[in-house]
Amino acid sequence: MMNAPLIIVGAGHAGGRAALTLREEGYTGRLILIGDEAHLPYERPPLSKGLLQGTTDLAGCSLLSSERLAELGIEHIAGNPVSRLEPSQHRLQLADGQWLPYAGLLLATGGRARRLPQEQANVLYLRSHDEALALRSVLNPGTRLVVVGGGFIGLEVAATARGLGCEVTVLEAGSRLAGRVLPPVISQALLDLHREHGVDVRLNVALESIQADAVWLVDGQRLLCDRVVVGIGMQPNIELAAGAGLEVGQGIRVDEYLRTSAPNIYAAGDVCEFRLGGLYQRQETWRNAEAQGRHAALNLLGREVPFETIPGFWSDQYDWGLQTVGVLTPMAISRPLPGGGMLLFCLDADQRLQGACGWAPGNGVAKDIKLCERLITARIALDAATLADPGQSLKHLLRG
Ligand code: FAD
Ligand code: NAP
Repeated sequence: MMNAPLIIVGAGHAGGRAALTLREEGYTGRLILIGDEAHLPYERPPLSKGLLQGTTDLAGCSLLSSERLAELGIEHIAGNPVSRLEPSQHRLQLADGQWLPYAGLLLATGGRARRLPQEQANVLYLRSHDEALALRSVLNPGTRLVVVGGGFIGLEVAATARGLGCEVTVLEAGSRLAGRVLPPVISQALLDLHREHGVDVRLNVALESIQADAVWLVDGQRLLCDRVVVGIGMQPNIELAAGAGLEVGQGIRVDEYLRTSAPNIYAAGDVCEFRLGGLYQRQETWRNAEAQGRHAALNLLGREVPFETIPGFWSDQYDWGLQTVGVLTPMAISRPLPGGGMLLFCLDADQRLQGACGWAPGNGVAKDIKLCERLITARIALDAATLADPGQSLKHLLRG
């Protein structure tokens, strides 16, 4: 296997970032990036924002152009998924039947939109560029859109669709928006914002069925609509790894070096299940795809660097921005921000910052969240009253 290539399965964000890093770090051998989509590697955040609004296109989301791939000598196989993996033979098979040997392998297969059991022609999902284009084509002024799921897909699509003049109803099964990941006060702020923009948001709702022109709720209500967008979570693409006998849980399990249970096979991105704070978990964020893609590449080159991370993500809805860093807990200290926003601080038992969440117009929280990340790393004990006071500078706290 000495002269066999390094192969990356999944030409998305983590896979693309890993390929770039391998070259940046001096790997000169054969490098193959295999994707099942027809496109060059791209980033997904614009799919529910600029691409859906029509203000950006696929090239605007691109991670690697064809010129850059050629320049770096990265072989990109598109539209030809890996269908089988044989770790004991150090080889994999493509859907077209071709076998490829590998010296080292990265699995960055991401995930797909979780689907409702019932298929219906007017139901759309959003994970890929092609799905975003299909959705964009129906978001016209006056379109009656029902969004199932009040998580990030649902809320970002609702905001974009309102901007395009659609009539939007959001149905959320839980008692608050993005309830699994955000503190209650931010869920409330999201709810207020969407209602101010004329979205009919309904919480604690159970779906009965979807028909060609309506959605039925379990309580007997019928909501007339033209289209339904479903954003009820992501299903990690673990089947290839599981079929090859790799250890999987909710994702492909890795150790602190992002190594799977099979020799010379690593995993990164949404599909990767790693230990954070003692518990196995996956992170479904841009920041994680970026960090793990880069990190797995280093370890494929034999660097043996343990993966450590401070998690974080952002969301843009209407003209408001949300940013988080670290680990959020339901109880948080709140500091008001100009323009009606807020910055939340989550402390651990020793009064050290473990997570923060900012919500403000535009990009108003970016600077504060960067400072919070530095405060998390600094592990300084902090005073709750000082944190709550908008007159106290976070920079000053960092100095001690
Ligand atoms: P992906 O980007 O999904 O790439 C995996 C690729 O592997 C896909 O192309 C998949 O089709 C391919 N693949 C799967 N199986 C195979 C196979 N057997 N053979 C070959 N190829 C295969 N995060 C944020 O932090 N902020 C945001 O604002 C934000 N917005 C988002 C908006 C949308 C609409 C979506 C869908 C996600 C958003 N995210 C956001 C999340 C972020 O985009 C993901 O966390 C990130 O894309 C994960 O990267 P990945 O490489 O692990 O997976
Ligand atoms: P998500 O964030 O997990 O949210 C799904 C939401 O749908 C949850 O609030 C869930 O409620 C609710 N739900 C589940 N089943 C339902 C049902 N039958 N009826 C009504 N509501 C239901 O998933 P997503 O919004 O679909 O996003 C998918 C992926 O895209 C994730 O990986 C996400 O991180 C990524 N993404 C990220 C961003 C961002 O970070 N800005 C933006 C877009 C997409 P319960 O929690 O109560 O089950």
